[in-house]
Amino acid sequence: MSDQAPIRAGVAGFPIQHSLSPLIHREWLKRAGVDGRYDRIEIPPGYESFQQAADDLRRKGYAGLNVTLPHKENALRYADEADSTTSRAGAANTLVFSAAGVKAYNTDVSGFALSLKAAGAVVSEQSRALVLGAGGAARGVAAALSDLGCGSIMLANRTLEKAEAIAASIPSATTLAWDRRDAALGDIDILVNATSLGMSGERPLEISLSALPKSAVVADIVYTPLKTALLADAEQHGLQTMDGLSMLMHQAAPGFEMWFGEQPVVDDALRELLVTALNHRGPA
Ligand code: NDP
Repeated sequence: MSDQAPIRAGVAGFPIQHSLSPLIHREWLKRAGVDGRYDRIEIPPGYESFQQAADDLRRKGYAGLNVTLPHKENALRYADEADSTTSRAGAANTLVFSAAGVKAYNTDVSGFALSLKAAGAVVSEQSRALVLGAGGAARGVAAALSDLGCGSIMLANRTLEKAEAIAASIPSATTLAWDRRDAALGDIDILVNATSLGMSGERPLEISLSALPKSAVVADIVYTPLKTALLADAEQHGLQTMDGLSMLMHQAAPGFEMWFGEQPVVDDALRELLVTALNHRGPA
């Protein structure tokens, strides 16, 4: 028997009981045969409570954290260091603790980029994307599209000022009034819903996909329900789709590798596990 303590990490947020991250990481721990623990950690809103809880977890020897709502900005503020993508995104969802300090990453950015590629989307200087939303997730999506070399990124949001704030930090980004979203679809290659509309318990996203070119890809980062009304509509129109579960799995991988030292695999078996969990959960 090893006398080494298990490596510990977890996901911090509020509320946290519905997070799928423990399922993902515990499955990868099992597959890798690593002696590790991955916990759900509830931290009430506010920077001070985040700071106190994170200090405490570091004292207990945690290797790091995934961070979700409402603490992604707090996580970046707490860190000693962040890469340029994370600083540009203005929020972090992964922290790595070490004797040298705390390093912050935003793996929503790479997670979105990888899942878009997995859906068969080819992004180039000629690509034109329309991103709906200007919250934390939309910021990550816009940063990912920019990193992939997308030539034009339009941001439409109910509160235009928030879209303008994101566009100001992303060279190829412009903004669009929320009620102009249907009219803009005619020459869009990539449509992304990064609002919370369409999520179980939220209002539906109202948009008509009729004008989208047949070659367009429609991505929805909402994953409850897994097949949102937007994705169902896109399928009806014969369009390629990307769902939020794909992004969720891909965003989890870098943290696992940094804390537990093994490169995990995103595959159909993992997806099935998550789909089963979502199906058992029922409507939110
Ligand atoms: P935020 O609360 O930061 O942003 C919510 C966005 O939705 C804002 O743009 C907001 O507009 C818009 N919105 C909300 N209600 C309405 C409405 N009635 N009409 C028009 N727009 C509306 O949330 P996040 O950005 O963190 O998350 C957004 C979604 O993405 C969530 O469903 C979340 O679960 C999902 N997500 C998925 C991930 C994945 O891995 N698949 C990762 C991260 C998030 P306004 O600014 O005007 O309020």
